[in-house]
Amino acid sequence: MRLLNVGQGDATYIRNGSSRVIIDGGPEPTVFGRYLDSLRLNNTTIDVVILTHQHLDHYSGLQELFKTARHIRIRYFFENKDPAPAVTLAHLRDSILSRMDRDSLIYRDTDDPCSNRRPICTITMTGGARLHIMAPQPNGEGANNRSAAVKLIGPDSASFTMWLAGDAEHEEINWFEQAGYDQNPGIKVNVLKADHHGSCNGVTPRYLDLVHPQWVVVSLGVRNEYGHMHTQAKRIYRNAGIPWYRTDQNGTITIRSPGTPNGSYTIVPEYPGTNLNGPSDRTSHQIGCT
Ligand SMILES: [Zn+2]
Repeated sequence: MRLLNVGQGDATYIRNGSSRVIIDGGPEPTVFGRYLDSLRLNNTTIDVVILTHQHLDHYSGLQELFKTARHIRIRYFFENKDPAPAVTLAHLRDSILSRMDRDSLIYRDTDDPCSNRRPICTITMTGGARLHIMAPQPNGEGANNRSAAVKLIGPDSASFTMWLAGDAEHEEINWFEQAGYDQNPGIKVNVLKADHHGSCNGVTPRYLDLVHPQWVVVSLGVRNEYGHMHTQAKRIYRNAGIPWYRTDQNGTITIRSPGTPNGSYTIVPEYPGTNLNGPSDRTSHQIGCT
């Protein structure tokens, strides 16, 4: 699994056996396109693509998947299908719909991810890893609080688990517990992808109690205009004793799990260093996130 260094945004690539999954595509088609090249994903099938929510820093890069010259086949595309005015998102949706007609792509709504009126859809990858895709908060305030959560479970569930929930903010983070996701599929994991790029509204002490990660990985851009990572978020991670890697300083972060009983996963950043500060963090104390 790789958290790709795509600047201010999110893009994750998961490989298990011959199965390939992409969660979000970052803000820049050209940057994401270079990863599709370097990961040798042209002329392949991507089994599952998940757009966590309707913000450009998550969907824009996904347009590259549909470029004819890449010859990439997509089996399942998940997103919440909320109405959205953005023209680039409309283009992406047009591409999805035309593939449905032509190429048997299956287009799923994260509000009903398995089309069976159940909130959790489980996908088993060919190497035995599993992916739980969870419906977002039904009436979440703003696009961030409509983020679909994903839990990745390695082939041997004891060796590696990870929780990714897009840009979910306090409102939806609290709702995950109300929805019972802390019980089913279970929220306690080895690695947490920081919600909302290390924003103070993407973490609470309670959330970290429940997720109880050994590591946090954060996807964000250098000198982003939001001041991510926020001082308060770092304080919460630090108080819980949880170290972090961040894509703006560590580059692409690769996590490997051997998939054997009692095997331990490894996290390898492109550039070393933990608990780093970034150029944006100087201005990162946010009013309203005490
Ligand atoms: Zn975002």
